[in-house]
Amino acid sequence: MFDVLAFDADDTLWANEHLYIMKRERFIELLRPYADPDLIGKTLDETEITNLRYYGYGIKSFALSMVETAVSLTAGRVSGEAIQAILQFGKEMREHPVQLFAGVTAVLAEVGQTHTLMLITKGDLFEQESKIARSGIADCFRHIEVVSEKNAETYDSLLHNYGIAPSRFLMVGNSLRSDILPVVEIGGTAVYIPYATTWAHEHVSSHTDTTGYFELEQINQLPSLLKRLT
Ligand SMILES: [Mg+2]
Repeated sequence: MFDVLAFDADDTLWANEHLYIMKRERFIELLRPYADPDLIGKTLDETEITNLRYYGYGIKSFALSMVETAVSLTAGRVSGEAIQAILQFGKEMREHPVQLFAGVTAVLAEVGQTHTLMLITKGDLFEQESKIARSGIADCFRHIEVVSEKNAETYDSLLHNYGIAPSRFLMVGNSLRSDILPVVEIGGTAVYIPYATTWAHEHVSSHTDTTGYFELEQINQLPSLLKRLT
């Protein structure tokens, strides 16, 4: 039924969002002498979303947003040491090992026997390429695409470039906004595997229509779903 199975990477194949949550907590601790913790968290979230249009996604963007939030919440009084600590948060995130979710390697090996596998991830090219290389699973994929945004136009143009009919394309991911809804919109099929935490920007408000996609609890269930669909 499907020729190409495409996978999102962050929080679909490996854990990612928890790194941001951990450093967000450290950042709140760092700025606690200057502002209310809730205000710090809220300001950082808003700054990150505003800054997407300047810096795109990823750790560098997150680090710049932390610096900007620190400067603004302290009215410019934040110390050089604190800025240095913030920059160090970013470097630690960058060097954190890529931790695959349980079963990922086996699932890719199994479904790769019958389908062409593709990796479609969004974010900073340098950062995503490094994670893919360190993941140890790059060889499982025939095609790897790092894109700056995942919307219907992105998927449309990828499928066009590879000569894939939407009806033969299935996308697996943890984000309704980036991996599921745009694929359904262009006539493809999607498998939604929610992750424990989802970044505020990826939330889709009051989404109730589940037409056109399947939902699984974990990636280990993918092979049996594919068998049911064929
Ligand atoms: Mg993801």
